[in-house]
Amino acid sequence: MQSVSIERCGSYNETEVDLSLSKCIDQIQGVKEKLQNKKVLLKVNLLMKKNPEDAVTTHPAVVEAMVKYLQRLNCDVYIGDSPGGPFTERALKSIYNASGMTKVAENTGCKLNFDTNSAHVQNEKAKMLKQMDVIDIITKVDCIISMAKLKTHGMMTYTGAVKNLFGVIPGLIKADYHLKMNNTINFAEHLVDICEYVSPVLSIIDGIEGMEGDGPSAGIKRHVGLLMASENPYALDTVASNIIGIKANMIPTMIVAKERGIFSGDLNEIHIVGTDIKTINIPPFILPKSMNINFVGGMVPKFVENILMNRLRPKPVFDYNICVSCGDCSRSCPAKVIDMKSGKPVIDLDKCIRCFCCHELCPKKAVDIKQHWIYEKVFK
Ligand code: SF4
Ligand code: SF4
Repeated sequence: MQSVSIERCGSYNETEVDLSLSKCIDQIQGVKEKLQNKKVLLKVNLLMKKNPEDAVTTHPAVVEAMVKYLQRLNCDVYIGDSPGGPFTERALKSIYNASGMTKVAENTGCKLNFDTNSAHVQNEKAKMLKQMDVIDIITKVDCIISMAKLKTHGMMTYTGAVKNLFGVIPGLIKADYHLKMNNTINFAEHLVDICEYVSPVLSIIDGIEGMEGDGPSAGIKRHVGLLMASENPYALDTVASNIIGIKANMIPTMIVAKERGIFSGDLNEIHIVGTDIKTINIPPFILPKSMNINFVGGMVPKFVENILMNRLRPKPVFDYNICVSCGDCSRSCPAKVIDMKSGKPVIDLDKCIRCFCCHELCPKKAVDIKQHWIYEKVFK
């Protein structure tokens, strides 16, 4: 039976985080021995240039506590990610500075990854991504720790330990993958392939301050006060998502993991250590507006259902009063359907694949998600 460890942690106070995280990891039997003397990459979630207070990126207090824990085990620690946008030294430096990672490295002496090379690897365990490009650093360390943030996600409903590993795909290649896997289940198949390749030795979720609503970047910060850890990223996601009111059968990566026989998504198959989950009472997170709720499934023939669901899909819309014409949405659109016209983004909605990367990566939250009026009438 897989173990998931949960510890309460009310704030990002250094001492409190140090104590809670150490306890959280110590409760997982045998993990210390696996980490001892290793060269370790902390795969943090640095989606975009955001300050720690925005609750978009893994908080530096949690990362610093993890680095210190590993250094006590004589590990050589690297921090890295390939955030949205180009994977360049300049972009990394700016994001490391904003997210507090530069300070973590200064405080602890650990290394920030500035190697922007990629490696072409074979993935024997994959169903779809038998070969893929990954950031080179993951091929040069002994083991990887996924350090995710507890958030909702426009395309995948929820983002935690498994989805965090999409950041091992270098820079703009992520957009190609989005385009090739232009529906949620296909995308989830690829995310599970990536997770199976990376095979993190440990996964941590920073659930002290999470994000609900239109995550992973434009949602609302929500205090949860928990740190969670497990050797199994699927078990960890099952527990973390349940705590915020999202069942495993609503999360495409968990649906795929169950279909492949990797993990059932059943809480009863998880041994929870530390805080008793029954004592955790978090009102359910607000779900993202981009979720495509199928309310005709089984009521009409499949081809009619497909046509209807296609017509009723939520869509990205721009608020030109907030937009600063930076063009990030246009550059990050996998389908290349956003044109900058007179400095303002304009979408060809017929060709839009609804990946919501434009919503995710807009630095000004100028991309909203609009549901079809029928959804608004039915579900409000
Ligand atoms: S919508 Fe956002 S990302 Fe796109 S140009 Fe405007 S500010 Fe930039
Ligand atoms: S317009 Fe936005 S949602 Fe549509 S394909 Fe481009 S990035 Fe994805």
